[in-house]
Order: sequence, then structure tokens, then C-alpha cells
Amino acid sequence: MTKRDYYEILEVAKNADADTIKKAYRKIAMKYHPDRNPGDKAAEEKFKEAAEAYEVLSDADKRARYDRYGHDAVSGNARGFQGGSMNMDDIFSQFGDIFGDDGGPFSSFFGGGGGRRTGQTGQKGTNLRIKVALTLEEIATGVNKKIKVKKQVKCHNCAGTGAKDANSVKSCGTCQGSGYVRQVRNTFLGQMQTTAVCPTCHGAGKTVTATCHVCKGEGVTHDAETIDIDIPAGVEGGMQLSMRGKGNAGKNGGPAGDLLITIEEQAHDHFTRDGMNIIHDCYINFADAALGTSIEVPTLDGRVKVKIPPATQAGKILRLKGKGLPSVQEYGRGDQLININIWTPRDLTAEEKAILEKLRHAPNFQPKPTKEDKGFFERMKEMFQ
Ligand SMILES: [Zn+2]
Ligand SMILES: [Zn+2]
Repeated sequence: MTKRDYYEILEVAKNADADTIKKAYRKIAMKYHPDRNPGDKAAEEKFKEAAEAYEVLSDADKRARYDRYGHDAVSGNARGFQGGSMNMDDIFSQFGDIFGDDGGPFSSFFGGGGGRRTGQTGQKGTNLRIKVALTLEEIATGVNKKIKVKKQVKCHNCAGTGAKDANSVKSCGTCQGSGYVRQVRNTFLGQMQTTAVCPTCHGAGKTVTATCHVCKGEGVTHDAETIDIDIPAGVEGGMQLSMRGKGNAGKNGGPAGDLLITIEEQAHDHFTRDGMNIIHDCYINFADAALGTSIEVPTLDGRVKVKIPPATQAGKILRLKGKGLPSVQEYGRGDQLININIWTPRDLTAEEKAILEKLRHAPNFQPKPTKEDKGFFERMKEMFQ
């Protein structure tokens, strides 16, 4: 298989600086992250491909070699490459440098990826999935939600061991209490020894001869827990946050699974979201459009006054800088775009009709569009630039 150009994968120019490359990778990694695309093989491939591209382009030395000699100069011996592509553990460890490992929003965004080894014994608890619906106001500021989650918790009677009492726990005969068994495999490189979790005790190193009556030996019971979830500002519908260890309790002393929180966005009465920008549709009457006026519009931080200049055309877009949403990845805030619609009256009195009849043929009322009077498509381009 021929490999795609690394710059093309990250959608950056050949002379892009380190910061641009990092940002581009972050964007692609967010999009194709396996937590957000469960079971999607194509997304996983894209995710790995981007990680590999970043691995090379983020390292000045490798990048220089790649620029001169192409893929062959870097793919054979780069850190973490296995058979030409990176494995998931390497990719997730790479996130530490990119998203910060200090408990910031990104370490929780990318926690609990592809089943990493914890070094603990026992069976890991399963992941729990919940949905949280947020208003645009909550997304603008970030929000703390306390959510009651039904889940498996560690059995209080046996402290998760599943055993009736201390006398009913015995060292596992299969693994002699170590929790691991050694396996010898024949490979083309010769015999290879690997260790695996003991199939009898699932890594606990112990077996139970009499079970706990509360959990029937499971080590876990069903209960509800109220979980404090800190949602960073700027999240988008469909994004997934993960809280490590807040899922179902593990068995036999194993670690708990993760809580996966899918963000949903509630529809807003006044606003439509477009990335970091919010769009507001506003109606003014024809006289105000012709003469100019001042109107009040809602924003995410309350109402503000906006000046409508004389001779405002329908479809004019006014921009309130910084009144949009923040981004989870970037600094700054988007804008609020006010789309001006001109209200055409539905009902008219005889007197009103008479006034309009007089104006109908007035010379200044005849349309004379110039280049500045942008049509629909021009305006759309401007709005989404
Ligand atoms: Zn065992
Ligand atoms: Zn129990």
C-alpha cells in the first residue's frame, strides 16, 4: 500500500510551523478518535494515519529526513512503529504532550482509550455511557452537572472480593497466586514468551471457595451514584468526554471502567450554532432599513444595542465580535452573526396602501444594485469565511 503524504494527511502546507501542525493534528485526532467512532474501522485507520504523520512532522529531525527522502527514511525506525503503523498505546501516550497531562480538559477527553494495561489484577469494570443535553448558554461558559448514574458498585459486604469471608479465599492453583500465566508461542523469530492474565482467577491470584451472599460472588452490586461532571466550555454535540474510573466497578479488585459522556446540544429559541459562531435571525421593517435605527438583540451574555445604518439591505450580516462560543481546542471566542431580514407587511390598511402606492413609482425606490449589494451566495461565503 502506498502511503499518503504526511502534509496532506494533516492538511497543512509544506512549510507549516510546529504550532500549526500540532493544531491540525489535534483537530483530526478529535474527529477520528475511537471513543467517538466506536467500531468504525475507517475512522481508526485515519486516526492511526494522522498519528503517524504527526509523529514524524512534530520531530524536526525526522521531518527533515522525510522532506529529503520521503517515507522510507522515517517509517522503518521511528519510535512506536509496528509494521509501518503505530499501535494505539503509543498514540495515546503521544496525547500527553499534545493535550497536556495535567488533568486539563483534554486528558479527560482522551482518557480510557484502547484498553491499556493498568498493572492491577482483576477484571476491569465495563464502561458506562450517558448523554448530557446542554443549552448554548451552558456551552458558552462550561458547566458542572451532577448526574445520577445507575451502575455496578463494589459490593460493600465483601469489599469486592466476592468471598463469604477471609477463610473462603484461597490462592489460585493455576497461577500460584501471581495472577498471570506464562505462555510460549512459536513465531518466525523463534520461541517467544509472553505473560497473560490467568484464565482461572482473571488476574486476582485468588479463588473463592464460598461466595458472598449479597453479591452472589460477583463482587459488585447495582446502585446509583451521583457523579460530578465538569464540562469544559465550547463542547459540541456528538463530542465524547470520558471520566476514567467512573464506570462500572471492576471485579476481584480490578479497576473500574470509564464513564463516557456524549454531549448533546439543545435547540435554542434565538440562535443557531455554526462552530464557534452563533447566528441570529433578526427582522426589521422597511422604514427602519431605509432610514437606519438602533435595535436590541439577544446575545449569550444578555441583550445588546446594535446600530442599523441607513440603506441597509435585506440579508446584510452584522458581526458582533467575540459574542460567539469559545472552542475547547483553541483560545478566543467566535462571533455572533446577525442576519438582517426585512419584514414585508402582511396586512395593510387603505391609508398605508395609499402611501406605498405613492412611493411605488418614486425614482429612488427603483432597485439599482451595485457590487456592494451582495446576493445570497456572496453573503453565505462571507458568513462562513
Ligand atoms: Zn490464577
Ligand atoms: Zn459481595
